[in-house]
Amino acid sequence: MTETPAPFTADDHAARMRRAESAAAAAGLDGVLVAPGPDLVWLTGYRPVETERLTMLVLRPGEDPVLVVPALEAPDAARAAPALALRDWTDGQDPYAAAVSLLGPAGGGTGRYAVSDNTWAMHLLGLQQRLPDTGYVSLTESLPMLRAVKDAAELDRLAAAGAAADATFEEIRKVPFAGRRETDVAADLAELLRRFGHSQVDFTIVASGPNGANPHHEPGARTIERGDMVVLDFGGLKDGYGSDTSRTVHVGEPDAEERRVHDIVRAAQEEGCRAVRPGAACQDVDRAARAVIDEAGYGAYFVHRTGHGIGVTTHEPPYMVEGEERPLVPGMCFSVEPGIYLPGRFGVRIEDIVTVTEDGGRRLNTTSRELVIVD
Ligand code: ZN
Ligand code: ZN
Ligand code: ZN
Repeated sequence: MTETPAPFTADDHAARMRRAESAAAAAGLDGVLVAPGPDLVWLTGYRPVETERLTMLVLRPGEDPVLVVPALEAPDAARAAPALALRDWTDGQDPYAAAVSLLGPAGGGTGRYAVSDNTWAMHLLGLQQRLPDTGYVSLTESLPMLRAVKDAAELDRLAAAGAAADATFEEIRKVPFAGRRETDVAADLAELLRRFGHSQVDFTIVASGPNGANPHHEPGARTIERGDMVVLDFGGLKDGYGSDTSRTVHVGEPDAEERRVHDIVRAAQEEGCRAVRPGAACQDVDRAARAVIDEAGYGAYFVHRTGHGIGVTTHEPPYMVEGEERPLVPGMCFSVEPGIYLPGRFGVRIEDIVTVTEDGGRRLNTTSRELVIVD
């Protein structure tokens, strides 16, 4: 078991907030408004519950960051983010007026702010009502690459989360599959992820036989049988950073077609990883993986993008998808996860998290990508 890494410092968070402010200025925005959620955690280290009471970080280039916070939660906020200026409000006061008072004089700038994606609609509507002429845009749409390039400490955490997911796979391949329900194996996966240091389990997909043809199948009561292909896709957060890996196993000896489809997906995943290098476009990774599946005649059965970024969440930009022309940059981290889904029959998906280095892609998941036979 690896040691718990040192927490990020107030300096780390200050640097991230400055990065967000300059990115906002470069994008022609007056600032960034951040409600509780992954962006707030990444920027400040503060992880409050999301409620009807307004908590909102206000970032404006050239100004000190200020956190609008309910008075009763101010002590927690001050503990979590001691360097951050707080603007508290008490029940009965107008929290939106408090936020609006920080947004600067009307007509002072472009009048446009980026708003974190998971800001509750009631909070955004509250701001809109008080500042109807101000424009609000999605933070992820306007600054998609804000959290995309990871620093060394973040990469260490992502690697440790990946290693914990790999340890989980090495154990799950030893448990009995035939005769047990999908939900039983899913519970094993969750228990193992926690045993190997995850504090949060986000998903434990166990998709057996025909259920494997549904990429986001929720594990159910189906009893796994001998002869089934089983897609396993699991992940969550360890020390605040995500894991996400998929392997497809077979219960007993596979037939020729199952082997062939698995070989195609494995080759596609290999080509996707090989396309990872600085300066390549995100869509190149998708194209490289998809070309293998297209050429094998299964193009119609690869029904999703090839990958997604990972960091303080398990799904975030950058997306490896046709049309995403932004370049890969060292420090980016994302999944490469092609699949083939044959309706009514079975599915195969193989997924590794890959990080961009100067020399190409480095996998953070390294368990066997051969078709593993389980009992
Ligand atoms: Zn089979
Ligand atoms: Zn996954
Ligand atoms: Zn994924």
